[in-house]
Amino acid sequence: MRPSFLARLVNGPLFDPVVFVRLLNRNTSLLFDCGRIGNLSNREILSIDSIFISHPHMDHFMGFDHVLRIILHRERPLNLYGPDGIADKVISKLNSYTWNLTGDYPLEVMIHEVRDHDILSRSARAGDAFRPSMPASSPRRGATIAMNPFYRVDASVLDHHMPCLGFVLKEPFHININAARIAELGYTRGPWIGELKGLIFAECMDDYIDVPTITGNRRIKVHELFMELVITSAGQKIGYFTDIRASGDNLKRIRELAGNMDILFIEAYYLAEREQQAHEKAHLTAREAGLIAGMVRARKVVPMHISPRYHDRIDEVMGELIAARISY
Ligand SMILES: [Zn+2]
Ligand SMILES: [Zn+2]
Repeated sequence: MRPSFLARLVNGPLFDPVVFVRLLNRNTSLLFDCGRIGNLSNREILSIDSIFISHPHMDHFMGFDHVLRIILHRERPLNLYGPDGIADKVISKLNSYTWNLTGDYPLEVMIHEVRDHDILSRSARAGDAFRPSMPASSPRRGATIAMNPFYRVDASVLDHHMPCLGFVLKEPFHININAARIAELGYTRGPWIGELKGLIFAECMDDYIDVPTITGNRRIKVHELFMELVITSAGQKIGYFTDIRASGDNLKRIRELAGNMDILFIEAYYLAEREQQAHEKAHLTAREAGLIAGMVRARKVVPMHISPRYHDRIDEVMGELIAARISY
């Protein structure tokens, strides 16, 4: 199965946790946390539609200025999701610059504060010197905080001595195109396949698209192409959890949010030898990360945010995580 999401741990397991997710077939990407992002290209940053901030500690949030600098002339808005209080933090960053020459810039930053029962949204436009709008509240329907035909992001408010969001990115379902049938029917591969997937996700089954064939273009109904070419399967699921303590309440919330993960990105800040310290600082040990990976039945687990004190003991961190995951 060709994946729809291509996820990359931008700084590897040892430094600021940042996960960049490219949506294949679409020129868009998502970013989970935004600390150091020097390893992302300008092209990658320009493709970011939404940033999901777990919490505003510096190692998760300092890259926002960098993103803004790159996308300042962009027409597409930027969505930023974060925990309670994130809007004031973003607005403070925006207010720290002078915006007297951006009157004709189209960029709009939409900030969404995710709380247990509602989402408070504000927007700020470059053309208006990033003066923020008044907050508008919308009630939360279940765990979902962002949704469109191509993906959904669910979030839960966890505890890190402050609200800290855990995220799950889900594909509604996965569309597999039968390549052999394309050839049999005389169709020629091309961008129409991406268009077809988009229309299926958007449930526009009665629309028509132009399909290049060996005898010229044909206008074919989406539903007909769906029946001819498409096999659907369960969509991808990617989890992102960092800077949390292994408290009963956090574990309960993670269990409710996540299950059957294809990939789980999870912090493994300490070894179990410092479990007490981990609990006090509201971080996870590698053992706790492994137990959570077992709990959410993660097929692949990617540890991240490993404390600098263990940078020469990575094998131990990995070993502890894997052993705990198997033992769950
Ligand atoms: Zn951190
Ligand atoms: Zn933190």
